[in-house]
Amino acid sequence: DNAQPKKPDWIRVKAPTSAGYKQTRDLMRENKLVTVCEEAGCPNVGECWSQGHATMMIMGDICTRGCSFCNVATGRPDALDVFEPGRVAHAVEKLGLNHVVITSVDRDDLEDGGAEHFAQTIRAIRHRSPSTTIEILTPDFLKCTPDVLEKVVEARPDVFNHNLETVPSLYPTVRPGARYFHSLRLLQRVKELDPAMFTKSGIMVGLGEEAQEVRQVMDDMRSADIDFLTIGQYLQPTPKHHAVAKFVTPDEFKSYEKSAYSKNFLMVSATPLTRSSYHAGDDFAQLRAA
Ligand code: SF4
Ligand code: SF4
Repeated sequence: DNAQPKKPDWIRVKAPTSAGYKQTRDLMRENKLVTVCEEAGCPNVGECWSQGHATMMIMGDICTRGCSFCNVATGRPDALDVFEPGRVAHAVEKLGLNHVVITSVDRDDLEDGGAEHFAQTIRAIRHRSPSTTIEILTPDFLKCTPDVLEKVVEARPDVFNHNLETVPSLYPTVRPGARYFHSLRLLQRVKELDPAMFTKSGIMVGLGEEAQEVRQVMDDMRSADIDFLTIGQYLQPTPKHHAVAKFVTPDEFKSYEKSAYSKNFLMVSATPLTRSSYHAGDDFAQLRAA
């Protein structure tokens, strides 16, 4: 799309070459694990993997939804692999991760949306790596009965993350099939079920939203008691995906960060290369030490 703005200097990605990167990649391959880092073409992959941070995607690499910003294939997913929780736990142990992020595709084909599989994965990691903190980044469980959320919360992840992804006015084009207030309410319910659990959400900017809308999302999140916020620049994975409307400047990100802290989020990451799982472990360690 010729109308798209040119990539600015501040979106510079280092080629992933380090030994740590290779070791992580080999281990993921051996254990037949899918990472978001690779699937989403994340710009931080070199940095994260060389530090042993990774985000694993469970329940396959085919999604029942087709969000316009996302590079994951849409279609009919395979049956769940009952050995997957064990393989994930094995990889977490082998990599010696202090903090792991577990996410998944959307599984509207499963009655519980994959809630039990999430819970099993959390329990398997806890069993083998009791000191590893676990963050989950879940789908919205839109088509499920409300009790499926309890299954996941009862497995006691340390951080429950679910992304709102964008402002409500852009849902029809960016996140069709999802509902803004449903996602907000999901996070609020997590807090109600377990007030000690940290909740987290994030959005991408540069999709065509107004700054005022971003600040409204922050207010909505705080009224749902969401603790952590991430805001990053949207990057178009392929020319077929949603166009980049704008490259938000580092100063504008700073201003978002300032607004967010003034609204009392416990932790905020708002930079061009912020991703939902970027430096998640460091943030958490910092918070625990505080
Ligand atoms: Fe992976 Fe998240 Fe790091 Fe990207 S920011 S490389 S998705 S851990
Ligand atoms: Fe991608 Fe998640 Fe949307 Fe599926 S639900 S298309 S994995 S963003």
